[in-house]
Amino acid sequence: MSIQICAAFDSGNIRLVGIEGDRVDLEIVKDHQSDFYQWFHFRASGAKGKTVTFRIVNAGGSAYAFGWPGYRTRVSIDRQLWRMTDTDYTDGVLTFTHRFDSDIAWFAYFAPYSMERHHDLVSRIALMPGVSHRELGRTLDDQPLDCLTIGTGEKQVWLYARQHPGESMAEWWMEGALEKLTDPADTAAKALREKATLHIVPNANPDGSRRGHLRTNAAGVNLNREWHAPTAEKSPEVLAIRNAMDETGCAFAMDVHGDEAIPANFLAGFEGIPSWTDAQGEKYYEFGRRLTAATPLFQLEQGYDKAAPGKANLSMSTNQVAERFGAVAMTLEMPFKDHDPSPDAEQGWSPDRCKQLAHACLDTLAGFVDDL
Ligand SMILES: [Zn+2]
Repeated sequence: MSIQICAAFDSGNIRLVGIEGDRVDLEIVKDHQSDFYQWFHFRASGAKGKTVTFRIVNAGGSAYAFGWPGYRTRVSIDRQLWRMTDTDYTDGVLTFTHRFDSDIAWFAYFAPYSMERHHDLVSRIALMPGVSHRELGRTLDDQPLDCLTIGTGEKQVWLYARQHPGESMAEWWMEGALEKLTDPADTAAKALREKATLHIVPNANPDGSRRGHLRTNAAGVNLNREWHAPTAEKSPEVLAIRNAMDETGCAFAMDVHGDEAIPANFLAGFEGIPSWTDAQGEKYYEFGRRLTAATPLFQLEQGYDKAAPGKANLSMSTNQVAERFGAVAMTLEMPFKDHDPSPDAEQGWSPDRCKQLAHACLDTLAGFVDDL
């Protein structure tokens, strides 16, 4: 019996190049109409009792190849628990092995978050008291763009995730955020619901998610470069979210992402926007300081370089929203590797810890909302 490789499912991505004995050569497939690729997700079967070596032979041409050193592939046999497995990156090839004690094993860049799970989440949360649901619009593949609204307060808060669909950690964060916000026993959530109205888009790129893309939608467009001028033809997802924000206004925004290279959680702000004031910026920095004090799952030492004055890229949501609404806006980045300041040798950065970080972000926001 030979080894079988399959990625023909929600959020799957791999192409079989060849099998030679117990060695399987694979390629990651590019996003449709785009050159971006790095997300992979596939299953392997028919190898029980064998130790199989998997080689992703085009890893060196991926979007962020500099992120592979120090990265460890996630593997699961039950699609619930995703463990890290030893992974080597040499000469543009990503190599990992798996000893098959079971019939089927699953491999992914990070613990996947399927569109089926998205629908489970949205439907479960929409049933909770005080939650309303609406479709902000439709994607190019005719999938709904779901928004959940929670709270009755004056401050308008927007949380949105997964503009980059391969960053599945962002929707695990959303699952944690939504569970906390609808927990009747949670005092921070109660305060937030009273002082703010929270508009939450758990998945801003359903098409890229279902197609197994890294970074783009069904038209190969990077949604986080569309916020200055979204169109119905190329970026209906951004157009729908931005139009809804224009109706409500926005005092606080968090755009949730994952980063390929940096082994830590961090925030990126809106330095360099034309209307920058130190007062607006200081609120963003204060949020980061309070979040660091609240949890070992966050830190301030590692992160991106700040844009120079006047040099902000207004096609990115955080800059556009900060400029457009005067909002305290930020991009949250979580690692594909681990959060090295408080590591986990078995799972690395993981779904459970994404959810814990979401809880800490909302606790921090609850203590901060009066200052917005
Ligand atoms: Zn991203």
